[in-house]
Amino acid sequence: MSALLSTALFMLQSAFSVAQAQSGATPTAPQSSAPTSAKAEILWLGQAGFRIKTPGGKTLVIDPWLTGGPKTPAPFKTDIGALGKVDFLLVTHAHGDHIGDAPALAKLHKAVLYGPADMVTPLTTLGILPSELGHRFNKSGHVKPFPGIKVTAVKAEHSSLLVWTNPATGKPESHPAGEPVGYIIELENGFKIWHMGDTGLFADMQFISEHYKPDLVMMPIGGNFTMDPDDAAYAARNWIKPKMLIPMHYNSNPLTKGTLAEFQEAMKGSTIRIIPMTEGQTVELN
Ligand SMILES: [Zn+2]
Repeated sequence: MSALLSTALFMLQSAFSVAQAQSGATPTAPQSSAPTSAKAEILWLGQAGFRIKTPGGKTLVIDPWLTGGPKTPAPFKTDIGALGKVDFLLVTHAHGDHIGDAPALAKLHKAVLYGPADMVTPLTTLGILPSELGHRFNKSGHVKPFPGIKVTAVKAEHSSLLVWTNPATGKPESHPAGEPVGYIIELENGFKIWHMGDTGLFADMQFISEHYKPDLVMMPIGGNFTMDPDDAAYAARNWIKPKMLIPMHYNSNPLTKGTLAEFQEAMKGSTIRIIPMTEGQTVELN
């Protein structure tokens, strides 16, 4: 893996960026999911949402808070179909800024939504998600959505209440939705991404890192609901020590005041490569 990583290509503000695509700078985006590249292409959709095109040509969407997200990049805020074909979805927990448009995308593409067992159950029993599109699993469990892709659920220190507006009454209801998770996502080329979901500090971050050896960690830094920049930097420096790190879950909620600049300051002197992204930006890794 290290040889692959040593050639990691970061296409910051790249020709694939949605903003540029929208401006007409590149006629090639959005890309199809044809297996023409050995790289993983990662698009930040805002908050904890990412679209990942795998080296084998599959498209994975995680925590897509699109139509309701204040920082959702165009054109996805008004057209979830603009993401292109979605092959499978991951949702870390039931909060609205994570479930977001995942059930709608699952139905649109007849794609399976993988999530914590006790979150998927109310989604299906309440009629939000067709049962055949919901896959329940739990921490330490893994799924293999497509050949060469393995997703393992790991601990996240957070909560997971489902708030749903009952169409019969027009009133919001709260439903228990199990425990939140993070995901270790292993792609066809062996590249491993740890999407931490929403989480506070917990010492088993060190165990998870030692056991699963993620190459890239997507880490919440916004504070209030999750780690703040200082907490995240502590975890990155002392427990996780990844090669690469994408900060997330900031800049979308007035309560999550942590900033990228604060995180970068807290990481000063570290050899961990921080990949700063803006919503709508794409990076490619191999
Ligand atoms: Zn949350």
